[in-house]
Amino acid sequence: MLSSRLAKPSLSLSSPLSLPLLPAAGLYVHVPFCQSRCLYCDFYLELSKYGGIPAFEEALLKELEQRFKPVAHLAEPLHSIYFGGGTPSLLSPQFYKRFFKRLKALYPIHPNAEITLEVNPCDLAGAPEAYREAGFNRISLGVQSLQNEELKRLSRRHNAEQAYEACLQLRAAGFTNLSVDLMYGLPSQTLESWQETLQSILTWPVEHLSIYGLQLEAGTALAKLVQKGVPRYQLPDADWQADAFACLKQTLPQAGFICYELSNWAKQGYESQHNLGYWNNRPYWALGPAAHGYLHPWRYSNKADLNSYLQDPLCADLAFCSDSEAWENVFVFGLRQPQGVCLTHFEERYGQAAIAKVKPVIECLLKRQWLEQKGTRVSVPEALFYQANAVLAEFVGL
Ligand code: SF4
Repeated sequence: MLSSRLAKPSLSLSSPLSLPLLPAAGLYVHVPFCQSRCLYCDFYLELSKYGGIPAFEEALLKELEQRFKPVAHLAEPLHSIYFGGGTPSLLSPQFYKRFFKRLKALYPIHPNAEITLEVNPCDLAGAPEAYREAGFNRISLGVQSLQNEELKRLSRRHNAEQAYEACLQLRAAGFTNLSVDLMYGLPSQTLESWQETLQSILTWPVEHLSIYGLQLEAGTALAKLVQKGVPRYQLPDADWQADAFACLKQTLPQAGFICYELSNWAKQGYESQHNLGYWNNRPYWALGPAAHGYLHPWRYSNKADLNSYLQDPLCADLAFCSDSEAWENVFVFGLRQPQGVCLTHFEERYGQAAIAKVKPVIECLLKRQWLEQKGTRVSVPEALFYQANAVLAEFVGL
């Protein structure tokens, strides 16, 4: 990987008049602050009590200016913007007003762009209305569980009642596109408590659910407790996880939620445009420490270190994305969606060499009945959808 000061989208655009328009892209902004660290979390973050937010805000505006200014006249409008973290709701609405004002002056934003803020229920630095007025039209609320014991065990700062209250306040403030994050496979979680969480969430005014199985990350406080064998931190096994996924399939469609990606459910018309951009291999910009951007054929990764970022917000690692990596991504992300991948579109976009490379893998998976084909599309059969990751692994390293 080549380390580089990445005003480099502009480096590769040194003769702009001969270049095509940059396609519509997303923008991800990483806000690396939290009030405390949850037991299972291995994200790069800084604790907000040590200060640093004002300096981070200025550095972020600087990065925005320097990355976007050289290419603004070449760009199609942004189709989605996502502030994730960390806890982006620790930043004030006033800051976001400044950010969006600056962004709009530099780069076009589509009038229907989806603009999401991740919110932790106890960590909203301003009134919900003020975030809507600042420019957000979608909220992703980090709830994780509606069982207070489970939340406590994960060291989450909120309880179920506070999360519900936050959801109602956001709705009352005029947000009509609300998403909730939930997790299953938590320490000492039972299928009964998972069912209760699911039944309760269906009574909330939300349009979208992101539901992930807990991944035990090495080095986290939770991993240490599990390794020590502390009884109340024992994790459910793979069969339990399969049963928990089956509960999702039984419960969520009752309230009109459709599974449009392995871990994401939405009411019709509320699928996350930002995430669909990732899954469909569209380009995205990224700002903030530890953020990763993809502007085909380049990927860039900002340093996961606040001090370095404050000194030089453009300092990033730059890597070339090979053809085979692009092909791999089409299948790894595409097969996580029930409709799978259209082979005709794949060939039109990437050419005959690409289809020749993936064909033997597809044929082998069709024979094993790990894939099925309908017309020009291949997809993971519904009965195997929960285990789709095992199928996707076959496309890694094409
Ligand atoms: S709120 Fe999210 S980012 Fe912050 S510590 Fe918890 S899991 Fe990690």
